[in-house]
Amino acid sequence: MKLITILTRAMLSLVRSGVISHFALIILLVLPANAYAQGSTHAATLPIIDMHFHPDPAWDLTAFVSLFDEVGVTKAGNGARERGPDTDKVALDFALQNPDRIFVFGFGGIRGLINKEGEPAWTLESEAVRKALVSLEADLRAGKLKGIGELHPNTTLSQPKRGGYFPADSPLMQHICRLSSTYKVPLSAHMDATEQSVGEMERLLLSNRNCIWMWAHAGHFAQPPLLRRLLQTHPNLYLELSQRVGPSFYADRIDDDGELRRGWKELLEDFQDRVVIGTDRVKPSLNAYSRVIGLWRQVFSQLSPKAAAKIAHGNAERLLRLSPAN
Ligand SMILES: [Zn+2]
Repeated sequence: MKLITILTRAMLSLVRSGVISHFALIILLVLPANAYAQGSTHAATLPIIDMHFHPDPAWDLTAFVSLFDEVGVTKAGNGARERGPDTDKVALDFALQNPDRIFVFGFGGIRGLINKEGEPAWTLESEAVRKALVSLEADLRAGKLKGIGELHPNTTLSQPKRGGYFPADSPLMQHICRLSSTYKVPLSAHMDATEQSVGEMERLLLSNRNCIWMWAHAGHFAQPPLLRRLLQTHPNLYLELSQRVGPSFYADRIDDDGELRRGWKELLEDFQDRVVIGTDRVKPSLNAYSRVIGLWRQVFSQLSPKAAAKIAHGNAERLLRLSPAN
C-alpha cells in the first residue's frame, strides 16, 4: 500500500474520532510537499462550486452549510430528485432558505411523465409536457432557475430500474436546447455514453451551437479518447464529473483514492475550460459529502493551479453567470 494511502486512512480515523475537522484533514492531506505535485497548498484552499447537488429537505441545511464552510464549498445545486410536478418547487423552497449557497435547476420532474407517457412525451405530442415546457420557460425568464435538469435521455446501463431511454435529439431535447441557448443556462444531462446516444447528442449539439450541454457524470463510462474527440468537435459540450470521483454504484472512476487514472490529467489540462465538478450523493450524508470533496482536492493537487481553479469554480461561475470568486 502506498504511503499516502496509509496516511490518508490514518487521518480519516482522526476525523471520525473528532480529533481533527474535515477541512484540517484536507489541508493535512494536501500539504505534504513530497507526496503531492506542485500546487498542493492552492488545491487545499480553492473555492469549490458543486454542480451536481440535489436540493432536498432531507438534508440538514444548517449543518450542511457549516460543512460547506468547513470544506470550502461556496455554492451547490442542480434539480431536486424527481417528484413529478412538485420537483422544482421542492428545490426552490429548499434553496430559499439559503439562496447564497444553493442554486436550482428546473424540469427534472419531467422524468416521471416521460416514463409514464413514453414516446408522446419526447415527441411533444403530450399536452402535459407542452404545458410543463411553458412553465419552465416562465421560470427561466423570471430568473428563478440557473439551469435545466437533471434530464435523463439514457439511463439503460447506469440506472436500469429508473426509466430508460429516449433520443437525445428528440423534439423534446431540441426544444430544451433552444431554451438553454435563449436563456444562456446549462442543461444537465445524465446520458450513458452508448454509441447510439453519443450520435444523437452530437447531432443535437451540431444543430444548435449555443445550447450548453453539461454532460452529467461525463457519460458514466466514457474514457479520455472519446471525450477528447467530442470536446474538440463540440465547443458547446461541457463535462460534469460527479460520480466519476470516489465510490459510485454505476460509473467508472477517473481516480484511485484521489489519484487520477491514466489519460485523465492530460484531458483535464487540455480542456480545462470545459470541465466542472459535482458530488451527487444519492442519500443526504454529510460524511459522504465531505469525503468526495476531499478526493476532489486530491485531484486538484495533481493539476496545474490554473486548471484546478477553473475546474473547481471558474468554469461553473461562467456557466452560472456568477461573479468570480478569488
Ligand atoms: Zn445522474
